[in-house]
Amino acid sequence: MAFLLVAIGAYAQDPEEPIENYDSWNGLAANLAYVCWAIGLLVALGYYIKLSTTKGSKEKYDFINKYEISSLWIAVIILIIGGCFFANAAITHLTPVLIGVRIFVTAAMGLIVAVIVQNLLKFYYPFYIEKRLKVLRYMPRISPKTGKPMKLLSEEEEDAYLDEGMQAEENVFSVDYDVWKDEETGFIQIEKYAGHLHALQCPECNYQTFKVVKEEIVKQPTDGEEGEIIKHYLCGYCGYKAKKSVILKQQTKMEQSTAPA
Ligand SMILES: [Zn+2]
Repeated sequence: MAFLLVAIGAYAQDPEEPIENYDSWNGLAANLAYVCWAIGLLVALGYYIKLSTTKGSKEKYDFINKYEISSLWIAVIILIIGGCFFANAAITHLTPVLIGVRIFVTAAMGLIVAVIVQNLLKFYYPFYIEKRLKVLRYMPRISPKTGKPMKLLSEEEEDAYLDEGMQAEENVFSVDYDVWKDEETGFIQIEKYAGHLHALQCPECNYQTFKVVKEEIVKQPTDGEEGEIIKHYLCGYCGYKAKKSVILKQQTKMEQSTAPA
């Protein structure tokens, strides 16, 4: 009987006292939500400001390749945390059980949204990035000598301007060098593109998630013979694996191009 009275008493008191407490919590949660949203937006905005102030197509290319997805991901996580606070900023009634339920539901919803956004960023967004990267990579470079657009040399033409180390790198490490030439003055600009940082389209699932994960030299090139290297590709989405054999150029040919005198 005494217990029942206490219970009734507690219940009767409930709507009176804790309301103040909820108000301060609600206010705090709303403010935390606004702070999170502001920080999240600043992270994204900061990225785009830094990108727009980055000079040069190659520098922009590297910046996007390196930071865009991770910056957006961080921004989204902070925005979602803000959303979790906001979803709990209008509490009028609470019991220990409801606290547990709220924490559980909030965490679950937050996780679901995070997983959806993560998948979008990982598997769909790279298509959009790829388009912009292609534009940046092949946008005619301007010669600092003449101010005119330069010409992008073909694979065959560029060998004359790449030293031995660069050519070996192009063969071995999934590295691509682009050589731009100012035909008027002969000015040369060389840009390096790293293959292992850059995903290709997967032949199996078509997502932009196909990357070189390992390279093994099967046969070192010698004076008389060509070498061979095997590049291992792995798709980060469907797990599709592929091997590609690449012929390593002969050492002699490399030496020729670097020692013209
Ligand atoms: Zn795939």
